Amino acid sequence: MSHMGRHMTHTGVEQSAGQSAGQGANFIEEIISAHVAAGRPRVVTRFPPEPNGYLHLGHAKSICLNFGLALKFSGAVPTQCNLRLDDTNPAAEEDEFVQSIKEDVRWLGFDWGEGLYFASDYFEQLFEFAVRLIRDGKAYVDSQTPEQMKATRGDFHTPGVNSPFRDRSVEENLDLFGRMQAGEFEHGAHVLRAKIDMASPNINFRDPPIYRILHADHHRTGSKWRVYPMYDFAHGLSDAIEGVTHSICTLEFEDHRPLYDWFLEALGFEEGARPHQYEFSRLNITYTVLSKRRLQRLVYEGHVESWDDPRMPTIAGMRRRGYPPAALRHFCERAGVTKNNTLMDVGHLEHALRETLNATCRRAMAVLRPLKVVVENLPEGHVEWLEAPFYPAEEEGALDLGARRVPFTRELYIEREDFMEVPAKKWFRLSVGAEVRLRYACLLTCHAVVKDEGGEVVELRCTWDPASKGGTPADGRKVKGTLHWVSATHGARADVLLYDRLFSAPSPGEGKGDFLEDLNPSSLEAVSAVLEPALLDVPPGEVVQFERLGYFCADVKRSAPGAPSFHRTIGLKDSWAKVAQG
Ligand code: ATP
Ligand code: MG
Repeated sequence: MSHMGRHMTHTGVEQSAGQSAGQGANFIEEIISAHVAAGRPRVVTRFPPEPNGYLHLGHAKSICLNFGLALKFSGAVPTQCNLRLDDTNPAAEEDEFVQSIKEDVRWLGFDWGEGLYFASDYFEQLFEFAVRLIRDGKAYVDSQTPEQMKATRGDFHTPGVNSPFRDRSVEENLDLFGRMQAGEFEHGAHVLRAKIDMASPNINFRDPPIYRILHADHHRTGSKWRVYPMYDFAHGLSDAIEGVTHSICTLEFEDHRPLYDWFLEALGFEEGARPHQYEFSRLNITYTVLSKRRLQRLVYEGHVESWDDPRMPTIAGMRRRGYPPAALRHFCERAGVTKNNTLMDVGHLEHALRETLNATCRRAMAVLRPLKVVVENLPEGHVEWLEAPFYPAEEEGALDLGARRVPFTRELYIEREDFMEVPAKKWFRLSVGAEVRLRYACLLTCHAVVKDEGGEVVELRCTWDPASKGGTPADGRKVKGTLHWVSATHGARADVLLYDRLFSAPSPGEGKGDFLEDLNPSSLEAVSAVLEPALLDVPPGEVVQFERLGYFCADVKRSAPGAPSFHRTIGLKDSWAKVAQG
């Protein structure tokens, strides 16, 4: 396919992609469909993270896209999606990050098969490629200082100036490059640059550096190398070495595409048998930061507990928070793949989360801010074990998730905010003289309140209607409010963490000196809650719905056997939307 033809297809599809985000085939899928229809023998993509941090939600999008494409076309041609650890920068990379990346990709539901690679495995080959460029007169060792190189690079309006070292002989270049690798020179004394065009309107073409001296040991190659390849050089060539056909990256690399092609061309990778780069827009979402540098600061400066703090938008944090992988996949699918840089509402993510949890989670009762209720017409020590399903039978598409027994006793707890001493208009919950339903139990009427010296209500004196067992009164009278509750004598006291959004501004840091100024001071609140006994059997990692309150996850780190430590995954409704509207 000619370059022209490819470019036109690209732009043509791109426009429709912008309009139909999230529905049907995205523009990259359409490009690949056309390639497959035209007889391309295979589709190979890759996900190329740099192991210098944990993966975040933006990476999840790239993972779903790249692995998703390999799955989508697997019926038509042989396909593969590689996981390539792009570990060309020895300073920042650690094995902990490599392990977390592998775990996160697998957890999201994808499989790289045989395709696990490290860019550092190609160091030998990349070095040979660089030597070939020198031999062909397409690269030279520049001995200007970094400042001189910067000053002679020019800018958008001004062409660059050739380096005085640009016309070194092949022999001299080979000798210097060899001695750079032998460790003879200090960092910054020389760099190897591609010899392209210092006057190019595309600044990436102005003799870009391809190898630099770094006296740093690498987590996989140890002290073998004293020169390390630059991203632009290593990336496309790694793609070519692996036989990648479609190299998909984010839009900021659009201007690098001609350079991507230049290296492949210069090293003799034939058009038709070499990878091509396609760009899509990064995922940005409100109330969230998705940049490794910022996430690093949150962790290293102690604003969160760790990379997998449940408030972090890292895949590990979201997993710990209670996100099922399907919720992330659905969200990424719906977010669509376009070339428009947009800021997505975090509400879409939360919606995908609630939707997935609603369809799978068991439900039980917990009271977060307990207010004591004494049922005066129940004898002291009396226990009534009520049978209650884990998923309400009356609900559409109800799941059979089993049942548990709930103890009903003389002393109970209800949610403090379900009682109002002076009821507001249309208050269907409890107040003095009012009758409500206790979920799965009975109808209950409040007669009096007990207050402490400060005047705060600390106890409600109530009676139950024994002819309303299960919650349906014998005379069929209507009762609107239904409350959740827990036995005070049989319930278990437990600290529950109420996580909320980590940032309180839609675009953290916008118009401020620092994004940390927008940290939400109430992103973590601990309450002393009461759990119904069945909740003690919830295994770590499971999310259950606390009825009327939201979804809560038994934390994998803080839970002990028989003593789950719950945190809020997400509320039932978007409380932020209400605040914004009201
Ligand atoms: P960050 O800006 O967070 O440091 P990065 O792009 O430097 O991210 P890499 O590890 O190099 O991080 O990224 C691996 C892949 O994930 C790249 O192909 C990159 O384009 C993609 N990616 C990173 N962030 C996003 C995002 N917000 N949306 C979509 N894709 C992303
Ligand atoms: Mg990067």
